[in-house]
Amino acid sequence: MRIGFDFDNTIVSYDPLFYNVAVEQSLVPVGLPKSKLAVRDYLRQSDHENVWTELQGYVYGARTNEATAYPGVIDFMRLARDSGISMVIVSHKTRHPFLGPEYDLHEAARSWVSIALTDGTDHLIEPKQVFFELTVEDKIARIAEIQCDYFIDDLPEILLMSGFPENTGRMLFDPEARYGTGGNVTRFGSWQEIRAFFELKWKAHS
Ligand SMILES: [Mg+2]
Repeated sequence: MRIGFDFDNTIVSYDPLFYNVAVEQSLVPVGLPKSKLAVRDYLRQSDHENVWTELQGYVYGARTNEATAYPGVIDFMRLARDSGISMVIVSHKTRHPFLGPEYDLHEAARSWVSIALTDGTDHLIEPKQVFFELTVEDKIARIAEIQCDYFIDDLPEILLMSGFPENTGRMLFDPEARYGTGGNVTRFGSWQEIRAFFELKWKAHS
C-alpha cells in the first residue's frame, strides 16, 4: 500500500506560528484567535491584503522551522512505516513568495521535513519521496504518476480536481470541520481518526 500526503495544513500546522508572528510584528491584536485564518481575515478586513501576502512569504520562507506537526501525524507515519507502507509527500508551492524577499520556499519546507519527520536519525519519509511541485496541475499529475492507494489533503478542491486518479482513495483532513462530507471524499477530523481507519484495513489484510 502507498499513502500520499499533502504538506501544508495537512502534516504541518501553521496556526500558532501565524498568530505569533503577526502579534510580534504588531499586525493584529493580541486577543485574536490563534489561527492562520483569523490573522488572514483580520488583515483582509482592515484592507491589508498586501501585508497578508508578505506575511505568508515571511512565515513560509523564514519561520517554517518553528511550525509544528499536527498531533498524531508523526505517530501515524511511524506506525505506517513499521507496517511496511510506502509514503510520499506531494505538495504544490511556488519557489518564491509573491511579495517581499525571495525566500526559497521549497528549501524551507524540505528542511522542515528533514528535521521534524524523523525517528531518531531516520527519515520517516525518504527525501526522494518528497515532491514539491510548482503548480496544482503538476501536483495532480504527480499523484497520478506515483499511484497512491490513498491521498490525504486538507482541500476538497484538490481531491475533486479533474485528472485526480480514479483508483486513489480521497481522504479529506478537516480538523476544523470546515467542510461537509459528500461525493467520493471521506472526511477525517484528526490524525487519530485517519490512523484508526488504516489500522482496521491493515488488520483485515494481516
Ligand atoms: Mg494543504
